[in-house]
Amino acid sequence: MERDAYIALGSNLGDRELNLLRAVGEIGKLPSGRVTGLSPFYETSPVGVSDQPSFYNAALRLSTAMSPHELLARLQQIESAVFRRTRTVRWGPRSIDLDLLLYGNEVIDDEALTVPHPRMAERRFVLQPLCDIAPDIVHPVLGLSMADLLAGLRSDESVLKI
Ligand code: ATP
Ligand code: MG
Ligand code: MG
Repeated sequence: MERDAYIALGSNLGDRELNLLRAVGEIGKLPSGRVTGLSPFYETSPVGVSDQPSFYNAALRLSTAMSPHELLARLQQIESAVFRRTRTVRWGPRSIDLDLLLYGNEVIDDEALTVPHPRMAERRFVLQPLCDIAPDIVHPVLGLSMADLLAGLRSDESVLKI
């Protein structure tokens, strides 16, 4: 059975636009799935560690037969094998970050994986691109649509379509 998974993409090292495009291509090549939606790309101000280059962010929908843990492992494999991403500073600069935002309506919380992504509801750089492709899907824990979550954000992070 195929499920809709939503993935957040982010890059703030190297050619950020090319990194996002390459990541979309790599995700599209994963077995037993296909990309069925892709947001515009946004340039966004860094959150957490502010002394670093701005990010490019996007969101995509993947229709997939993979389990959520298998999908996370594949995303991490793309991060490390394709982009040689190494983990240094948390929330620091990286050529690519691939986070699993939502997997159908599933709620998962174990040592490897938390879905929905625990910080998605407070991040404009996640909710804005997600609303471009899925404004009406409902957060399975909070019970609010992505459009409602975005409308309720108080933060003033800059998120500009490129
Ligand atoms: P943030 O999670 O705040 O966006 P980050 O993306 O920089 O921070 P990473 O270094 O990419 O954090 O990931 C840290 C760990 O988070 C990974 O080892 C992974 O196992 C775990 N993790 C838990 N849930 C998720 C999820 N839904 N998507 C991606 N990684 C997750
Ligand atoms: Mg992240
Ligand atoms: Mg991550």
